[in-house]
Order: sequence, then C-alpha cells, then structure tokens
Amino acid sequence: IVRYNDITKKFGDTVVLNNLNLEVGRGEKLSIIGASGSGKTTIIRMLMTLEKPTSGTIWVDGDYLWHKEVGGKLVPADEKHMRNVRGKIGMVFQQFNLFPHMTILRNVTEAPIRVQGLSREEAEERAVTMLEKVGLAEKVDQYPSQLSGGQQQRVAIARALVMQPKVMLFDEVTSALDPELVGEVLEVIKDLAREGDMTMILITHEMDFARDISDRIVFLDEGRILEQGSPDKILENPDSPRIRQFLSRFI
Ligand code: ATP
Repeated sequence: IVRYNDITKKFGDTVVLNNLNLEVGRGEKLSIIGASGSGKTTIIRMLMTLEKPTSGTIWVDGDYLWHKEVGGKLVPADEKHMRNVRGKIGMVFQQFNLFPHMTILRNVTEAPIRVQGLSREEAEERAVTMLEKVGLAEKVDQYPSQLSGGQQQRVAIARALVMQPKVMLFDEVTSALDPELVGEVLEVIKDLAREGDMTMILITHEMDFARDISDRIVFLDEGRILEQGSPDKILENPDSPRIRQFLSRFI
C-alpha cells in the first residue's frame, strides 16, 4: 500500500536518507527501529508531507504522493492532489498536541467536520465510536488538562482514527509519557493491530512491543536499511553486529 522508491533526503549537505527502498503491504504492521538520528522520523514525516524528499518517489494506494502522472510522465503534484493522497494517512506524534481550549469531543470532531465536511452529528457519532475504542468515551466533555498524559495520547489516537485512514503512523508515541502510563497506550495500539485491516508503521524504542505487534521490523542505520525481517530474526538473531550492539542496550 506504500512504496518508497529510491528516496534520498538531505538537509543541506547532510544525507539523512540514502536511496531508501521500502514497501509496506496492505494490513502490514511494520516497525522501524534504529539509533537516534538514523532517519526514522524523516521516513514517516515524508508520508505526512511534512518533509519533501530530495529525490525519489513515494507511492500510496494507487497514487504518487509528491508527484502526479500526466501523459505517462511524473510531474510535481499540486496541493490538491497531495491533500487527497495524504488523506489516506493518519499520524500520532510523540507530543499529543491536543487543542487545550476544546473538549475531548471537539478535539476529535474538528477535523472530520472541517476537512471531510461531515455534519456535527455524523462527526460526533464517529468520534464517540473511536473514543470508546480507546476506552475514553466517558471523557467527552472534559478538557485535555483534566486528563493524564496516557489518556491524552489515547485521545490523539482517536483523533487520527476518526479520519478513517488506510495507513496509521506512530512516531515514538510513548516516549513523552511517564513510565506507568506507557502500558495503556501500547495496549490500545495492540488492540488496533489485532483488528487486522489497518496498515501500521511504527517507530518505537519499546522492543517487547515491537516484537508483539510487528509482522516485520526494519533496522535503519545512517539513512539506510541495514537489515529487515521477522521480529524473531531481527531481535533474536540479527546478522549484523551493529544491531546486536544496539539491542544490548535494551536488555
Ligand atoms: P530520533 O530517534 O532521535 O527521533 P530519528 O532516527 O527519527 O531520530 P530523524 O529525526 O529522522 O532521526 O533525523 C535524522 C537526521 O536528520 C538527524 O541527524 C537530524 O538532526 C536531521 N534532521 C531532521 N530534521 C531536520 C531538519 N528539519 N533540518 C535539519 N536537519 C534535520
């Protein structure tokens, strides 16, 4: 459902992604691991159109994201095309970034009303379903400051889900949380994964979680895929000494 073709990303002279090729299957749960600065976040930010590739193409569910096919040729895409393709993708960030002055319900209904043109009733119905899914239906009338960090992050997950994306991106969604709040957020994500249909790309430093949830793990090293494979292969028996060294920090 997602394909990165020969993607290179530079910031100035710094090469952050070096000729990356990566394909993610429909319904696949893919985790990206690797050292800080290896380029993990950049991979998924490009899919949200938050960073522009320096070269290469990204294809999502039938269309190129940054390009458009015109007469058999690829030309740079316009805003409207990019918005349409990006609409298939939802993202949850490290910082939850809820709107502090809006209730939980408004936080979740805002985008479907403004972006998808749903009526308030339709949006609220969908929002409540999603808030039930993350176990927070009783919080609809509260404000973000009245919720714990873990609860706020679960709202952020509901806010992404309410747009009915085909692909969900999770970028170290528990790393800003107190340790005792990490579990509840990971459980919600695991439940989502068990439902099966949704394609999920996750960046995580939680290795047990990655093992549980992933169909495949990609190890990124200095902007290249060093190794990829099943959780057992990558986490138990990697070929690369570099990965063994990385993992030894988590034992
Ligand atoms: P972390 O685990 O710390 O989030 P990461 O693997 O996600 O790291 P990226 O955030 O993708 O890594 O960053 C890769 C490299 O690109 C880093 O060296 C970072 O400093 C650099 N970088 C990222 N965004 C920018 C930017 N907007 N301008 C300049 N350099 C950037």
